[in-house]
Amino acid sequence: MRYCRFRLNDKTLYGAVEDRNGEFWISHLIDAPEEDLAFRIEHGGPTPDAPHFKPLPLAEAELLAPVTPSKIVCVGRNYSDHAKELGNDVPAEPLLFFKPTSSLLAPGGTVKMPAVSERIDFEGELALVIGKRATKIHPGIHPGEDWLSYIRGFTLANDVTARDLQKTDGQWTRAKGFDTFCPVGPFISDEIDPHAGVTLETRVNGELRQHGSTADFIFSIPELLVYITAAITLEPGDLILTGTPSGVGPLAAGDRVEVSVSGLGTLSNPFEK
Ligand code: MG
Repeated sequence: MRYCRFRLNDKTLYGAVEDRNGEFWISHLIDAPEEDLAFRIEHGGPTPDAPHFKPLPLAEAELLAPVTPSKIVCVGRNYSDHAKELGNDVPAEPLLFFKPTSSLLAPGGTVKMPAVSERIDFEGELALVIGKRATKIHPGIHPGEDWLSYIRGFTLANDVTARDLQKTDGQWTRAKGFDTFCPVGPFISDEIDPHAGVTLETRVNGELRQHGSTADFIFSIPELLVYITAAITLEPGDLILTGTPSGVGPLAAGDRVEVSVSGLGTLSNPFEK
């Protein structure tokens, strides 16, 4: 299952995404996931009238962020090499923070660099999309509660960070939370294997800057789900950003950042003042 969210003829739509000889296409329209109530209001019901939809290349679609989460939970310092590059200790427990949903940005959308920051960094990350309500889960403890059953799929994110404000503010709300600081997409897929190490790469203006494997996570996905849901109920559509590998760095206006994982496509966003 792969799907995206996009605009066509002034309507918000969801489409199934197919790999056609190495190129992603939107093959047909699908119903919206349960959490997208705005979709039902816009369309007056659950299913778009779609008999005349013509398949189109994903690259030609006006993509939107593929999720409408109630919250975005982020994990800091989940790769030891990244913790070290910023001079931090490897954490003994997951380090959690939120990004506001107002920071969401579509694939291809422009990240606006706020004038109050002098150092804005990219952080390429694998993101999880929650598929059903998850509260105080204990994978392996309750029979049938397989942690994968809570995950609808995976996508890509850029945890854009005002690095200077992250230090001077004392907490991270503003540094991580500016409008446009959470590009997500281009689509959601459950067709990658999280048990295997997933290779994540980030390029700036085409130059490889991050090359990490989720095999190097300090805290695994089930450990993160147990830790997060012990405190916070996750709802369908909620996003979890799983942390960034080493190689983060500052950006200048005019730069373009591309985050990619095989099978998840490429999330590409320009940065401008
Ligand atoms: Mg991060």
